[in-house]
Amino acid sequence: MLESAFTKPPIQDVDFSAFSKYGVKLKILRLDYIHKDLNGNKWFKLKRNIEIFKTINNPTVLSFGGAYSNHLRALSAAGKIFSFKTIGLIRGEIPRPLNPVLSFAECNGMTLHGISRGDYRLKNTKEFQQGLRKRFGKVFILPEGGSNQEALLGCMEISKYIKNKTANRLTYISMACGTGVTLAGIALGARSFHNTKILGVSVLKAPGYLAKEVKSYIEGYKLNFCNSEPTPWDIVDDYHCGGYAKTNSDLIDFCKNFIKETGVSIEPIYTGKLLFGLAKHVELGLISSGDEILAIHTGGVN
Ligand SMILES: *Cc1c(COP(=O)(O)O)cnc(C)c1O
Repeated sequence: MLESAFTKPPIQDVDFSAFSKYGVKLKILRLDYIHKDLNGNKWFKLKRNIEIFKTINNPTVLSFGGAYSNHLRALSAAGKIFSFKTIGLIRGEIPRPLNPVLSFAECNGMTLHGISRGDYRLKNTKEFQQGLRKRFGKVFILPEGGSNQEALLGCMEISKYIKNKTANRLTYISMACGTGVTLAGIALGARSFHNTKILGVSVLKAPGYLAKEVKSYIEGYKLNFCNSEPTPWDIVDDYHCGGYAKTNSDLIDFCKNFIKETGVSIEPIYTGKLLFGLAKHVELGLISSGDEILAIHTGGVN
């Protein structure tokens, strides 16, 4: 069974001066270690969906994303590993030659189609999805970022890797947020943790948006599964550095320093922004001496 190729993610103590000089302890949960091609939070978001695909005869899975989508990248790898067909609908034109993400996806057998930005906005509507089924036949449609209910349930499992080792000593569990489903899952999965807060760093320039999204994922879970409260959580909207996939020289320098000092590889779109934001919070005294943070390395490609 190929799943035996998936490794348990380790927790590492990381000594980084921007934290240690203020007496703040940093640990990192290395979800990037799970598998070479299918890792990070994207594995947890997909795993329950893959269980469903396996019950369908000869499934084709269609999903959406930008030209640098980690979700489509992971979905293409899942299709190759677990033998199902994949179709990626790319927002805007497909760049030729393909960028590394799309070329990896195509190499894994994903069929790529560009769709106009106007159509892309309609992707969740019934009419548009009916059109897709007419065009591509019987397809299983996964939302952008893979963020459906199965993704939420899969992300709840991330908390298990944290629980047995360090529960009750962590002040914060922290992660970068794009759709917020990973945070929502971890907050629900960590219900039994005491005195631990979940702190998300938004990678989007959209104040308030992710908090609303997380609330609705949590409400959906409470309605369908179990009506109990998640661990307290919050999202910081201050460290997007201009917006999704935008960077500035502070962020880039920070990432370079972090990699040099710790040997832990990070990219500036997600985990880099997370650690950058956390370091700023530490500097501002919003996270204080004696606090212990577990940052989640959600994968991402350099
Ligand atoms: C997709 C992604 C995220 C965001 O996860 P959400 O569940 O959408 O909030 C964070 N980090 C990395 C590396 C990602 O690829």
